Amino acid sequence: MKNAVKKSVMLIVDDVEINRVILAQFFKGEYEIVEAENGEEALKILNERKVDIVMLDIVMPVMDGFEVLSRMKHDERFSDIPVIATTARSEGDSEVRAMEMGAADFITKPYNPTVVRIRVRNVMARLENEWRKVEQAAQSQQIVEMRRTIERDSLTGIYDRENFYRRASQLMQSNTDVQYAIVYFDISSFKVVNDLFHIETGNLVLRTAAAYFKHVVEGIGVAGRLEADHFALCLPIDTLNMDDLIIALDSAIQSLSIQHNILFYAGVYPVSNAFLLVDQMIDRAHMALNTVKGKYQHRYAFYDEKMRDMILEEQMILREMEYALDEGQFSINVQPIYGIKEKCDTGAEALIRWYHPEHGLISPARFVPLFERNGFIVKLDHFVWEECCKLLAEEKKKFGKVVPLSVNFSRLDFYDDSLLDYFKELLKRYDLEPSMLKIELTEVSYTDNPMQIVEATERFREAGFKVIMDDFGSGYSSLSMLRNLPVDILKIDMRFVQDVATSFRAAAIMKNIVQLAKDLDMGVIIEGVETKEQIEFLEEIGCDQIQGYYFSKPLITEDYLDRLERAAK
Ligand code: C2E
Ligand code: CA
Ligand code: CA
Repeated sequence: MKNAVKKSVMLIVDDVEINRVILAQFFKGEYEIVEAENGEEALKILNERKVDIVMLDIVMPVMDGFEVLSRMKHDERFSDIPVIATTARSEGDSEVRAMEMGAADFITKPYNPTVVRIRVRNVMARLENEWRKVEQAAQSQQIVEMRRTIERDSLTGIYDRENFYRRASQLMQSNTDVQYAIVYFDISSFKVVNDLFHIETGNLVLRTAAAYFKHVVEGIGVAGRLEADHFALCLPIDTLNMDDLIIALDSAIQSLSIQHNILFYAGVYPVSNAFLLVDQMIDRAHMALNTVKGKYQHRYAFYDEKMRDMILEEQMILREMEYALDEGQFSINVQPIYGIKEKCDTGAEALIRWYHPEHGLISPARFVPLFERNGFIVKLDHFVWEECCKLLAEEKKKFGKVVPLSVNFSRLDFYDDSLLDYFKELLKRYDLEPSMLKIELTEVSYTDNPMQIVEATERFREAGFKVIMDDFGSGYSSLSMLRNLPVDILKIDMRFVQDVATSFRAAAIMKNIVQLAKDLDMGVIIEGVETKEQIEFLEEIGCDQIQGYYFSKPLITEDYLDRLERAAK
């Protein structure tokens, strides 16, 4: 007899049978499916048997989804069961309302099988991390004691991510008459501190900040270090004075006398519903933080309606991506890379663009991070690579030679073991050589899964592709990474060149990175070059390749081909 593994139970609540059938179809392999036609029936089932996840239609007769959600979140037997709200396109921002009421995520009808699966999987994975482990361990008093020591981050002595989530939600849920705020902190260019100074200096900054945060929440809230240089606080909103907090934090850090401008930025989410997942509260505070990061005048921001619009835009992007790709709304732009010595273009980078019929041009900065979260980037990158091959084939036909193209890789692309074979096949199909495509990888992708990525890059290099490390200097351990990494070219992060004309520090860093690359026998590309002064400086320190608006903005392929044609004359 086979070892029967008990399946998790999914409750699908929808008044329209066909909608239930579709979802059941997606998940019947993985889950035991139970169906309910309306809210009342759903609650009855919840009372009778164990359910692991609920897919909940928002618009239903008898008792609507909001009511079910609200009852579940206020009943401690059900409040931990993740709920994914299902809505139709026309229902405006009911998704946002459902999320605010504690839904773990939402999906829109008509269902896209990939999106639905990914969202359910994400929700379950998140839940696993957040609650289950914690709940089980908490059963034994001894373990609780043990954890009290372990659950504190060993570097800073405040809670780690998991325990911050747990403590914060306990605190907020047991004091529902108090309004809390979640404050998310991040240090700008912390990795530079780690690179420029000893790692101990970085640790000292983190410990000092942690000690200060601990003092701030003493007796009223919770503080945690989520990862690296990211901290979070949960405290009653009427005790929060962000100006005072930032000033005091600055002076605590200044007292360390580190010769580098270390600035904390913060995002604040005023909690309107204590039963929302802390993860989501953190996302919103983070969203607020992203609006001020790097701006010296504004060091913090509150989550507000505008950000809510951003969430809605994200929803639009996720809903429409597949359709948009099929409809040809995506295309590549190409930005030339100029060789100073050669005095001509030595390469170009392919950059994806989304021309939306209603919303106009949508920047990859808006959608690439979302697609990296839901996996769609893999499909989109394949599209980009193929477009690049088409362009190269056209160049070859027109001019008898090609200018190599760099393509961007996402770390997710590497999960496919047959990636190299795919590339070989692609090149063969278009009658091209590996030397005509260069691979751009960001530093961050290496940090994620170093061994796997190192091996994959090695294989690509052996096959004749050149590998570029993109955004060099923006990650946490840029310099130490260089020791182990097989790359041919460093592309220096844009932020360095932006300040070279005004900051002698930025200039010194740039000069040394360029020298370092030379010593390591690597090429260097400086991107984001916008002014003549920058070029003069870069020439003086011996840079060879430059990319930026000064030479050319990213061009549509027709314009790029025209440029090549002019150059060929
Ligand atoms: P990246 O790879 O670092 O690309 C460089 C970005 O800098 C591009 O933004 C480019 O338009 C912009 N840029 C170029 N010259 C200048 C300049 O002189 N000044 C300034 N301020 N900016 C300049 P874009 O096209 O918006 O792309 C943003 C990011 O989206 C890219 O950063 C890359 O990480 C990602 N991305 C773009 N296309 C793809 C793609 O096909 N696949 C993947 N996985 N990611 C992509
Ligand atoms: Ca790039
Ligand atoms: Ca870059």
